[in-house]
Amino acid sequence: MHTASLSPYFIDRVSHVREDNVWIQAQLHGATARLIAVHQSSVLCHNHDHRRPCFLSHAQATAAPETLVFLGQVDGIAYFTLSIQTSKDADQLCRTHQANFQAYAASAPMLESEYCELLSLACFSSYWHSRHHFCGSCSSATKMSSAGHMRVCTSTNCAQQYFPSMDPAVIVLIEHADKCLLGRQAHWPEAMYSTLAGFVEPGETIEAAVAREVNEEVGIQVEGIRYHSSQAWLFPNSLMLGFNAKATNSELHLDANEIESAAWFTRDQIRATPQMLPNQKSISYALIQDWLHR
Ligand SMILES: [Zn+2]
Repeated sequence: MHTASLSPYFIDRVSHVREDNVWIQAQLHGATARLIAVHQSSVLCHNHDHRRPCFLSHAQATAAPETLVFLGQVDGIAYFTLSIQTSKDADQLCRTHQANFQAYAASAPMLESEYCELLSLACFSSYWHSRHHFCGSCSSATKMSSAGHMRVCTSTNCAQQYFPSMDPAVIVLIEHADKCLLGRQAHWPEAMYSTLAGFVEPGETIEAAVAREVNEEVGIQVEGIRYHSSQAWLFPNSLMLGFNAKATNSELHLDANEIESAAWFTRDQIRATPQMLPNQKSISYALIQDWLHR
């Protein structure tokens, strides 16, 4: 298995066979199939090790087909999301398998990195389906299709198709005279700083979003905006697009509604206080590390 959370390719989504129900069923009933049980954005994990998801076989799951979504394959093993609808069913699973449901968002930093992509996709999938039971066009019920990769309106007059979507967000490391700009929000862990980020607005290019967010949050103008890398932050549902940029001014004017504090840091300052940095699996951490080693 890959271990780097920013690896470009981990799950083989085999999207060309999602429509082949015979193939999907063969995978589901195969001896190695793994079902990830999700209940209200929490993942079934072992009691004796909260960092290890408790994968189920199809025989153990006794699941209704409409609660199963095919996620893809990893090393030839097929993974599915199993959405657990009721607390009663969730409790039953916990008792049967000596397991408990762990909130994904809270446990992600502790999870072994090879599981993060799978589990975030499983939680996203379960969440998206739970909120798209009805057609936004004609209000009829929708049903799952294409092994869970879309929903279709059940009204034959409408038949509107719905696909899962993500919100693009930008995150940027800004530098000026051998310093980089980091900020923090009031609800973050004490003394943690990170690169600036914000959502792309409709009709806006991602480069314009970088310049606008930075100007709104700290009153800085930027130039030389360069793409760095991206990271799917599936829960709730954003795609983080990472950038580097250079500031043309250095005097900060903070928007107190968006940011608690921000400051220019030297490489030595950051190296001396590594505890100030965000989660090592985050794109923000990767942006900062690349700058430190430049
Ligand atoms: Zn409809």
